[in-house]
Amino acid sequence: MPALLRQLAGLGGCTHPIRLDGHRTEYTVDTRTGEIGNVLHHLDSSSLPAGHLLVRCNNRRITRCAACAEVYRRDTFHLITSGLRGGKGVPERVAAHPRVFATFTAPGFGPVHNRPTGPAGSVRRCRCGALHDPDDPALGTPLDPDTYDYEAAVLWNAHAGPLWRRFSIYLRREVAKRAGLTQRAFREHARVSFAKVAEYQKRGAVHFHAVIRIDGPEGGDTPPPAWATAELLTDAIRAAATAARVDGPVIEGRPHTFTFGRQLDVRTIRSADFDGGQELTERAVAAYIAKYATKGAETATGALDRPLRFLAELAQLDINDHARRLIRTAWTLGARKDLEHLRLRAWAHMLGFRGHFSTKSRRYSTTLGALRDARAEWRRAQALEADGTGPDTTLVLAHWIYAGTGLTDAEAWLAETLEPAPGTEGEPTHG
Ligand SMILES: [Zn+2]
Ligand SMILES: [Zn+2]
Repeated sequence: MPALLRQLAGLGGCTHPIRLDGHRTEYTVDTRTGEIGNVLHHLDSSSLPAGHLLVRCNNRRITRCAACAEVYRRDTFHLITSGLRGGKGVPERVAAHPRVFATFTAPGFGPVHNRPTGPAGSVRRCRCGALHDPDDPALGTPLDPDTYDYEAAVLWNAHAGPLWRRFSIYLRREVAKRAGLTQRAFREHARVSFAKVAEYQKRGAVHFHAVIRIDGPEGGDTPPPAWATAELLTDAIRAAATAARVDGPVIEGRPHTFTFGRQLDVRTIRSADFDGGQELTERAVAAYIAKYATKGAETATGALDRPLRFLAELAQLDINDHARRLIRTAWTLGARKDLEHLRLRAWAHMLGFRGHFSTKSRRYSTTLGALRDARAEWRRAQALEADGTGPDTTLVLAHWIYAGTGLTDAEAWLAETLEPAPGTEGEPTHG
């Protein structure tokens, strides 16, 4: 029993682990002759207490696996933070580069119930005449569902990724223009980096939050030119967001064109962590982005976090009528041959959005993969230290096949007795 407990503890609270059948053997290698020597470690799944090798599911969604989502949230936090203040291979000088936090919204598809705020946090009445509570489920749903533009709403989500790409091309162009440089010359002077997350508004439209930074020509390692200021960047973002436009399909004679909504918020990020809560700090930005990285369309749909196989499933789901109509619209549009490339049925549960939840440009900071590798390497180093073999050159031969997912009832019961701090198992302590 203690052995099984130890194996379960290694999952760090993951409730849907991947089960693998197979074996792994680690040999020493003579670095001079290249000959394979002794067996250092041998692992056979059949000899493991659970009968399989159990690997964390690494699902990003909080609704799927709380423990793995927590690891993802922390990794995202570190990824954003290192791009803001350095660390994890990113020089600390990036903290002095001009950077902003920007929010890009979708345009309106029809009036929705809302909670307008006035000066000093006062709340005004909705257009329907009601004074909605902040947790009123009606918020974000249309005043008149029959005139709400569901088709455009779903198609906007489906084109949000391309619209962002268009924006990022324009942004480089707009920054270059303000610096008085041609685009070709621009690359020799500066680079624009970003990290962004997608989030669903209650009305079911995707919007983006992004950290955008100006670096020198080699990215974070090089100082930005003197003309690069947060003001210039803000101005360029506004121009690029206004100009960005993607042509969509023509449906029943109606041409669709996609742009961002007029509501665009751009704020300069300051370095200080403590400033009386007036300024937007690095820590606040990283925490905000990391939080949304673990969510899907659930803010708009409730708990729907996986693809539908049949439209009939929709009737069984505990979601509101607005989400149901968005999903049904995606499903119906998904039958069209000319929209095949949008894969609207596969992404109906995401209300049409098939982009990545968090993306970044290559030079922004480290990658989630690098953070995962670092953690695996750290565990390996710890294991080697524990049996005193040291970091010799080794050869690993392994063969694993998928044997299922999840825990047996008995394993799940045992795992619950462990109560680990979610996601903290084996995590190197970060500064
Ligand atoms: Zn998991
Ligand atoms: Zn209302």
